[in-house]
Amino acid sequence: NTLAAQCKSASRRKVCKTVLKHFDAQYSEELGEQWRSARDVLLNPLSWQYGVLLNRFSDLTNLKQCLTALGYTNLLPQTAHPESKSLTTHIPLQCFIHRDPVRIPTQGHHPGWLKQYYLLNAASLLPVLTLNVKEGENVLDLCAAPGGKSLAILQTATPGLLHCNELDKHRHDWLLKTLESYFPPTLRHLLSVTHLDGRSIGSVRPGAYDKVLVDAPCSNDRSWLYTPDTHQGEMWLKERTQLPLLQKELLCSALAAVRPGGVVVYSTCTMSRAENQSVVEAVLASYPGVELQDLEQQLIDSLSDNFHFAHLHPSVGQLVIPQKGKTWGPMYVSRLRRIY
Ligand code: SAM
Repeated sequence: NTLAAQCKSASRRKVCKTVLKHFDAQYSEELGEQWRSARDVLLNPLSWQYGVLLNRFSDLTNLKQCLTALGYTNLLPQTAHPESKSLTTHIPLQCFIHRDPVRIPTQGHHPGWLKQYYLLNAASLLPVLTLNVKEGENVLDLCAAPGGKSLAILQTATPGLLHCNELDKHRHDWLLKTLESYFPPTLRHLLSVTHLDGRSIGSVRPGAYDKVLVDAPCSNDRSWLYTPDTHQGEMWLKERTQLPLLQKELLCSALAAVRPGGVVVYSTCTMSRAENQSVVEAVLASYPGVELQDLEQQLIDSLSDNFHFAHLHPSVGQLVIPQKGKTWGPMYVSRLRRIY
């Protein structure tokens, strides 16, 4: 039934030809052959896979057994040699994925009850795993709504403070609801939720955080392709040209907000070089005392069976692009460390 409902809603979507034409020109130049297979996936919503992120604060009785019986497997290895230094083995985060495009129903919001899982594109866990929050750290999620990554951060460790910020009031309210649905009242003192312009936080709270996530507003390739009409498609393409400036300002604000030695992770869900590598390169060139850090090879290795990492030139950050059977992404991630 769920699959039938999914098929019905996917078949109702129409691709916006204006946006597709633009993507064809840009991405075949930027990604070459890799765009072909990503394109096939983006144009076929019936092939899209869904990840099931478990909520460690809820009652998970029977859920894992049910998912396993349905053919789901855990994205991250859960057991390892105790002496292994693998990044992922210390993380309690559990995300179940399926090799087929099956989708279980979302859970409704019931005040006072914690949801057991959150459906997501599993590649959106990459920025969170790259941030690698440790117990007690002060963390800022600069562009947080609807809260998928805030929620994932809380699955990886218990921070000293998680400050979730979102500019848009409506989306800020949605973020509050997400946090209420997944996080127990006894731990809510660890959360602070604001709706500020993220560009101002660096000057209001300089050096206040150990880690900052900038999951930037971007031209979300998956949804832009399904823009309902040509006029809106053209509007979005115009807006797209404004995004790199906003993204650079948000990233600079994040670097000001993190303490010396702290880490900033920048992510988007577009394949556009102008919003990914070019943003990071421009900020590195203009912001003193910042270095680019490679993502942990162990993390990449442990995810490579499921995620398709694109070959980037120049190789600034990592980009997961959808491929047949590995439809996760697009998701771009880059990690910066403030030296002083
Ligand atoms: N991190 C979220 C998640 O995983 O659920 C998704 C974030 S979405 C890619 C980017 C968000 O940034 C949008 O909700 C948008 O409203 C917000 N945004 C846009 N401009 C902003 C700004 N200047 N300051 C803070 N947030 C902003």
